Amino acid sequence: MLSPPISIATNRSIPPSPSPSSTARHQPSHSPETLASLIATTKNIRQLLQIHAAAIRHGHDNHLILKFKLQRSYSSFGRLDSSLVLFELTHNPDVFFYTSIIHAHAVDNLHKRGLQFYVQMISQDVEPNEFTLSALLKGCALEHGKTLHPHAIKLGFDCNMHVRTALVDVYSRGGDLVSARQLFDKMPERSLVSLTSMITGYVKNGDLDNARVLFDGMPERDAVCWNVMIGGYVKYGKPTEALTLFRKMLTKMNPNEVTIVAVLSACGQLGVLESGKWIHSYVKNNSIHMNVHVGTALIDMYSKCGGLDDARMVFDQLKNKDVIAYNSMIAAYAMHGCCREALILFSDMGRRRTRPTDISFIGILNACAHSGLVSVGKGVFLSMKTKHGIEPSIEHYGCMVNLLGRAGFLETAYGFVKNMKVDPDPVIWGTLLDSCSLHGNVHLAEEIVKFLVDRNLANSGTYILLSNLYGATSNWVGVARMRTMMKTHGVQKEPGCSSIEVRNTVHEFVAGDVKHPNSKEIYMMLEEINGWLKGHGYRPRTDIVLHDVGKTERERSLAVHSERLAIAFGLISTEPGSSIKIVKNLRVCSDCHEVTKLISKITRRKIVVRDRNRFHHFTDGSCSCGDYW
Ligand code: ZN
Ligand code: ZN
Repeated sequence: MLSPPISIATNRSIPPSPSPSSTARHQPSHSPETLASLIATTKNIRQLLQIHAAAIRHGHDNHLILKFKLQRSYSSFGRLDSSLVLFELTHNPDVFFYTSIIHAHAVDNLHKRGLQFYVQMISQDVEPNEFTLSALLKGCALEHGKTLHPHAIKLGFDCNMHVRTALVDVYSRGGDLVSARQLFDKMPERSLVSLTSMITGYVKNGDLDNARVLFDGMPERDAVCWNVMIGGYVKYGKPTEALTLFRKMLTKMNPNEVTIVAVLSACGQLGVLESGKWIHSYVKNNSIHMNVHVGTALIDMYSKCGGLDDARMVFDQLKNKDVIAYNSMIAAYAMHGCCREALILFSDMGRRRTRPTDISFIGILNACAHSGLVSVGKGVFLSMKTKHGIEPSIEHYGCMVNLLGRAGFLETAYGFVKNMKVDPDPVIWGTLLDSCSLHGNVHLAEEIVKFLVDRNLANSGTYILLSNLYGATSNWVGVARMRTMMKTHGVQKEPGCSSIEVRNTVHEFVAGDVKHPNSKEIYMMLEEINGWLKGHGYRPRTDIVLHDVGKTERERSLAVHSERLAIAFGLISTEPGSSIKIVKNLRVCSDCHEVTKLISKITRRKIVVRDRNRFHHFTDGSCSCGDYW
């Protein structure tokens, strides 16, 4: 029997061929045996066609082994059509021919056709073997897998390693992890492939803990399973774990493009520029192919870490820019509030005949919203369908509501939502309420909340937003009412958290945090800052504090907001004059925004704050958002 079993790691693996009775010894150069052995060395479809032509010329086209190898080779070069013709020209194909053609269909995701061949072979009394079963199971849907499982048991193949591995894969891919695990646990020997299938299944279902236990217990790992585990952490918002595991991977083996894309996304989630730059230089120095995926991931990372110029540099250096690369760069400009640059890039796309996608429009509309360009945004929105033939989706409507609402056209935005072609989702209602809060329109907010409560559409965010709005207008009765409603609905407010990366370590702060080892120095720095601020005529915006407490108390609670602690730590732990980068999970409050502007002026430092919605670049007393955020 020839070697390789079917593996999920390599896509075009090949089922075994029938064993020739003897190996070729002194065969003439055009004997079927010689031609058959030549097939194994073909590198492209042209060589294969030449061999096939030679076989026909010398009258060997009905030689069984030669025919089988040709059939198998055609499908491994992606020529299922030719493979199929050979199969159909074969009288009484045996189990090897059937298995090969079933496998070829499985590789091309044509599982139903594969099953038809299986039915055909059984009706012709050709007995399937373990490779037939694993070929059928390869990549098939859970429902088909469940039908085939009893067949495997009846034929006595269910304990065969390849069949069992394929079954684990079917159940795991289909999300039936309990059945997958039962089969997996009963395997006498765990192959790399079955372990990877099981881990992939857990990761897909968000069960990272179980995946990690299996991963840690693996005797050997290939790049595929490292990527599955690291990618899982990135997908489920655990970027720190992803980076830690990546460092571990570097000590064992070289990462590939897939790994790099995943860890760059982790850096972007964390906003850690230093780590992101390190990975960029790793890409340059380790001959990792700078394909469009890696390039786009770099653009995204730099943009999320506040390095907009670096993002543009990567974009400019990228060869064969596709629409995804354009979309990333447009999104980067949007996030940084550079609407003009985003629009220039958009028209550049048009000149290069790169057709925009629905994602391009999300970027452009966001850019307009961040800069308050209402009429430009309206024009772009209308052109989507009329000029580009793209039907706006819920995201685009969301962008429009954001654009109108932020700019203060609240009634227009409300009317827009009520007349949308698609049903508004909680995000859209949240956006609208956000705008009411931004412009202090309690009346409309109450109307919207009533509308939502009546239709059972209110969620945690609804209550929090209205509560914030009441707080901002010192309506403490309203705040108390919302607080009771939140309590009865079991809703909790997300605590604000800011982080800063200093020398490859991420430091996190929540409001009033005293857990940092340098806490004493940080609070001393805060005192110093407060002194500077007073000297610059700063008055705390106590109106935005949501507790019904005295003025001094409210001033104190503002002064220890998480971003201030992070900035104070940045000031004492980085070089004078260097820029400070902060990532905040919530929207930055207007008081901290004011304070950060002043700090940038007093310390002559550039401070970049990434909040939930966008970037703020503070330099010399002003912010890139122009106080519009
Ligand atoms: Zn604040
Ligand atoms: Zn700003």
